[in-house]
Amino acid sequence: MKIAKFGGSSLADANQIKKVCDIVLADSDRRIIVVSAPGKRNSDDIKVTDLLIAVAKARLANGTCDEELQKVYDRFESIATDLEIPEIIAEIKDTLKTTAYADYDDEVMYLDSVKAMGEDCNARLVAKYFTSIGHPAVYCNPKEKGLFLEHDALGKARILGESYDNLEELKYEKSLCIFPGFYGYSKDGKIITFSRGGSDITGSILAGAVNADIYENWTDVDNVYAVNPNLVKNPFPITEITYDEMRELAYAGFSVLHEEALYPVYVRGIPVNIKNTNNPSAKGTKIVSKRSHYDSLITGIAGEKNFMTITITKYLMNHETGFLSKLLQIFTEEGVCIEHMPSGIDSVTVIVRNKYVNQEKEEILINRIKNEAGAQLVTVERNLAIVMIVGQAMANSVGIMARAASALSAAGINLKIVNQGASEISMMFGVGAEYCDYAVRALYKELFKV
Ligand code: ASP
Repeated sequence: MKIAKFGGSSLADANQIKKVCDIVLADSDRRIIVVSAPGKRNSDDIKVTDLLIAVAKARLANGTCDEELQKVYDRFESIATDLEIPEIIAEIKDTLKTTAYADYDDEVMYLDSVKAMGEDCNARLVAKYFTSIGHPAVYCNPKEKGLFLEHDALGKARILGESYDNLEELKYEKSLCIFPGFYGYSKDGKIITFSRGGSDITGSILAGAVNADIYENWTDVDNVYAVNPNLVKNPFPITEITYDEMRELAYAGFSVLHEEALYPVYVRGIPVNIKNTNNPSAKGTKIVSKRSHYDSLITGIAGEKNFMTITITKYLMNHETGFLSKLLQIFTEEGVCIEHMPSGIDSVTVIVRNKYVNQEKEEILINRIKNEAGAQLVTVERNLAIVMIVGQAMANSVGIMARAASALSAAGINLKIVNQGASEISMMFGVGAEYCDYAVRALYKELFKV
């Protein structure tokens, strides 16, 4: 059994939806289909999810949202008309209107419920279209099928374990299942969405639940590339990559798959195939637990800005037991995730994402670290980018760090931080944010010899 998830650009208009149907019908193993909301039809277009966010914000601000809602109606109406299924339009409008004008007592939950309607209505529409062309398909409501979520301490959506058992039942559905991505329900029946791009997570959860042979993630590129194609022309395509490599690259800004989408398939060893809806015969990129071949020593290079460092200095730190535990406790209590923690004898640098530490939080952290952990000095630098070189094949090969460092030095880029774990799967460089793109280009040029 294959789970096939189609992203927003694969479902942006009637023509794209017809391509999706051809792909699904070409392989009878594709029995569970996860859909995103209609995405952009061209670079100036607006995603339905963004239109829905505007709907919810207008309602919250003014109590009405008719004008904003009309834009969403128009998108679905034009798709349904072109697919010759006008009978679905009334159901979609009704669903949208009821949700947009529902009573609410929590603004965040209300926003989630409206945001999710792009996927919900699209799943209804796609199921209707399959049925109209003679292939019975059912819209699967995540509540009825048992996809239950909760919020973690940071407000992020997290799956409840029982959902996997509930969703396993989808295996026995006779008709094609069309499942909306991006959201599930709390145990008390409220909609909870994942973060943006979260339909990838739904696809992965369903693949895990039915123990699929493969999770196909259909998008609009032939491959994942070794470097961001906006930075380098015609970059090296990646045909195969491990979960671990993908995870490292996703962490540093590879946006092909949602960062949290790998976990459900990773723990069950289900391979992922990234494929192109506009070119289905291309083999795509496979994400696997063990690679069958290596096309190159380095798999990919990525860079991400928006990190910051908090450097804590305390004389004789290395003689003191429990210092790090006090420090970590402070970050835990302040709800700040730590990304890396390179250390010296009397100092340790904590690398975190800017978004977790506003000015107020910064002051709290500095004061607590000084008062409770007894640090003499705490310095903060906000302007950090992290650049990662990733490749399973790097392990035990000599000289890559030297080549990388000289490429960066030749480009005049100062290395603020360098980090390589013993697994040798990745190297991390901290550079000034303004040098991030230059660093990625310089490293690619050197390590891919272009
Ligand atoms: N429609 C949602 C978004 O635009 C989720 C997704 O497409 O995966 O983020």
